[in-house]
Amino acid sequence: MESFEDRVDFGAGSKPVVGVSSCLLGKNVRYNGGHTMDKFVAHDLSQHFEYILVCPEMAIGLGTPRPTLRLVESVDSDSIRLQTATGDSDVTDRMVAFATQWAEAEGERLRGFVAMRKSPSCGVHRVKVYSERSGMPQTKGEGLFIRALRQAQPLLPMDEGGRLNDPALRENFLTRVFAYTRLKDLFAAPWTQGDLVRFHSREKMLLLAHDNQGYRRLGRFVANAASEHRTTVEAVYCQGFMECLQQPSNPGRHTNVLQHLAGFLRPKLPSQERQELADLIHGYREGKVPRLAPLTLLNHHLRRLKVHYVLGQSYLRPHPSGLDRFHHF
Ligand code: SF4
Repeated sequence: MESFEDRVDFGAGSKPVVGVSSCLLGKNVRYNGGHTMDKFVAHDLSQHFEYILVCPEMAIGLGTPRPTLRLVESVDSDSIRLQTATGDSDVTDRMVAFATQWAEAEGERLRGFVAMRKSPSCGVHRVKVYSERSGMPQTKGEGLFIRALRQAQPLLPMDEGGRLNDPALRENFLTRVFAYTRLKDLFAAPWTQGDLVRFHSREKMLLLAHDNQGYRRLGRFVANAASEHRTTVEAVYCQGFMECLQQPSNPGRHTNVLQHLAGFLRPKLPSQERQELADLIHGYREGKVPRLAPLTLLNHHLRRLKVHYVLGQSYLRPHPSGLDRFHHF
């Protein structure tokens, strides 16, 4: 079996660059001159990311205080406009122009974006869109700034400050940001087919923990990628990879991966220690211990017994230490 580096490389001191809605970091940029500081984003995450702050509404010249904005779906066309709640001012064109320019300037170096929820400019999920005809809202939209950013960087991991208080969503977001960083690093270098094969092998367990079929589909693509144009390979692989990780994991999938990893220790580990590890994995499956317990023991044995192939798996360390405490289950 091919041998890889022992550890997942996060780069010396480098932190992923993540965009943030300014109000989440306590900047007084909201329509009422206040903020909506999110402690997790402002304190915990800020130690691990390099932030780029942006308030799109301030950036297009709307000061504080200012009228509230809303998204309005027009009657005669399918377009969605960004207007003041009173309807007497339309800032769609200014917002689209700013967002497009910002996404062009910053989008390529971003590895994630944490946005303010419900905002008609920054919201990522279920933002209210008002019908021009009935005046009634439906929670079906995304903020205009975020829409432009998504069009420029369709694979960029994005979520909202409030949603990151949900442990499962939080872990998924963190996993995607660091995985996206590794993916970007791979294709930023003059990569070879061998580099892609090694990358896919190192990500195997992480992908399996999210989407078994997606991992296998991508594997078939990688195996035949030599005959494809490089641009196609990069585009197809990046999309498939990020789509896999978008799938939520669960204890059953994690248990399968942990057991799979434990299998690599079978020839080298005395039966008593094998049983101890198996019991911990079972305890995790039963919800009695956190995933960190079997994972830590696995890492210990793999390092001690120098099982290099497995030590290179990103699953064992999907993000830098310090963020492990945010593992969900
Ligand atoms: S949600 Fe976005 S536009 Fe609104 S105040 Fe926060 S950063 Fe500014």
